[in-house]
Amino acid sequence: MDISTARASPLWWDAVDATRMRAPLAGDTDVDVVIIGAGFTGLWSAYYLSKLDPALRIAVVEKDHVGFGASGRNGGWCHAEYPLGHEQLVEDHGRDAAMRHMRALFASVDDVGRVTEAEGIECDFQKGGVLTVARSELQADYASEEVAGARAFGLTEDDIRLLDAGEARERLNAADVRGGVLHAHGAAVHPAKLVHGLGVVVEAQGVTIYEGTACGGVARGVVRTDGGNIRAPMIVVAMEGYRSQLLGQTRKVVPLYSLMVATEPLPETVWDQIGLSDRETFGDFRNLIIYGQRTADGRLAFGGRGAPYHWRSAIKPGFDIDDSVHSELVRVLLELFPQLSEYDITHRWGGPLGVARDWHPSVTVDHDKGVAWAGGYVGDGVNTAHLAGQTIAELITRNETERTTLPWINHSWPQWEPEPLRWVGINAGLWLAKSADRTEQRTGKHSRKADLGLWLRGRRRQRT
Ligand SMILES: Cc1cc2nc3c(=O)[nH]c(=O)nc-3n(C[C@H](O)[C@H](O)[C@H](O)COP(=O)(O)OP(=O)(O)OC[C@H]3O[C@@H](n4cnc5c(N)ncnc54)[C@H](O)[C@@H]3O)c2cc1C
Repeated sequence: MDISTARASPLWWDAVDATRMRAPLAGDTDVDVVIIGAGFTGLWSAYYLSKLDPALRIAVVEKDHVGFGASGRNGGWCHAEYPLGHEQLVEDHGRDAAMRHMRALFASVDDVGRVTEAEGIECDFQKGGVLTVARSELQADYASEEVAGARAFGLTEDDIRLLDAGEARERLNAADVRGGVLHAHGAAVHPAKLVHGLGVVVEAQGVTIYEGTACGGVARGVVRTDGGNIRAPMIVVAMEGYRSQLLGQTRKVVPLYSLMVATEPLPETVWDQIGLSDRETFGDFRNLIIYGQRTADGRLAFGGRGAPYHWRSAIKPGFDIDDSVHSELVRVLLELFPQLSEYDITHRWGGPLGVARDWHPSVTVDHDKGVAWAGGYVGDGVNTAHLAGQTIAELITRNETERTTLPWINHSWPQWEPEPLRWVGINAGLWLAKSADRTEQRTGKHSRKADLGLWLRGRRRQRT
């Protein structure tokens, strides 16, 4: 498994035309809604807006091409998770609001499956759930605690259940599996096929997508781009981690990198040993998260955090490749599945996702100012961006639904610290998470470094 021969490009882009296919904006124009960013947030917003009001003139401006950002690069977990856990929602908004939010996330996974099928978007959607395996006695305790907490909150066996060692191993025969948790509300998807398919569908609905058109700034009623100004009474900022690059937004959200590798297609005999026969997406209970999926063409796509936060929230193509993080991912992959040593890593890549200071994702629509935005999904954005897009469209068109009063609406983010505090705090938090994993593996006991690491990164709960 030699990373040096792997292609430095997202595996997913091989299956789509990941180039600029559409014309850039050429001159000033007027529309009803302009959306900045052609990822899941932008395109799901466009999809539902044009469904709810087909007469709306909608334009999407994208600096590069559809799916260039995190939406075309991610691990393909379309799952229902609130980054801080339902506990934080309960603490902030009470049990009922928290339950409504979690149920909306659950329903959203099914909606992605239903809409993609109805629209003919072939994106390898398979709802096999999310499997978190426990690989030590300590992790088995974490698994039990998680399920007990979910039960106390009101989730049922149909939502989440504890697996004993036998069932966990039957689903994922990785090294040292002693149990696990199966979250039912999760599907594996091919993210680039999904985002590109959405692009084609919204265009057929009459939405105009301008690729190669960079937004340089937003003022009341106007988006300034390098191809001209777009005037619109409603502007949707759908840039997630990239929002940090807009003037005045640097401390609103930070771009954190997540990196991935993918193997060549593995023979059926190997899959017979490993499992994942429902294409369950999988991870374990370590502090520095890892995530994997069995792709529809039989590869293992595997990722994790651990890439450093870059000074002043920089985003650069060079940050997509990091020899030490990619090597570490391969090391963990081989620790889980030693039989993969004779197979090649064919691709490696990475990209930025968006994290707010308080780790709360949010959807905001301000009719008075004519601006809407959503993001801060902290690596749980595939499904959450769908729910966000649906909600943005309902709020803009003033359609009241069970989604338009969810607790994340109009949540205002505190600012991140200025540099150098931001750089020191986030990177120290990442280092502590890594170090806590080593300590927990060695001692079999919970490490306080994990709690300190979460606190430094701005989180209070949950490992993932
Ligand atoms: C490697 C990786 C793995 C991940 N794995 C998962 C996962 O398995 N499950 C999960 O739920 N989440 C995952 N995430 C997070 C998830 O992919 C994102 O939260 C989600 O895709 C965000 O969608 P978005 O549309 O809001 O933003 P993006 O998809 O980032 O879209 C923003 C768009 O804005 C464009 N843009 C940037 N600047 C400008 C500008 N100036 N003008 C115009 N356009 C601009 C960008 O080119 C980009 O296309 C992962 C992220 C990464 C990077």
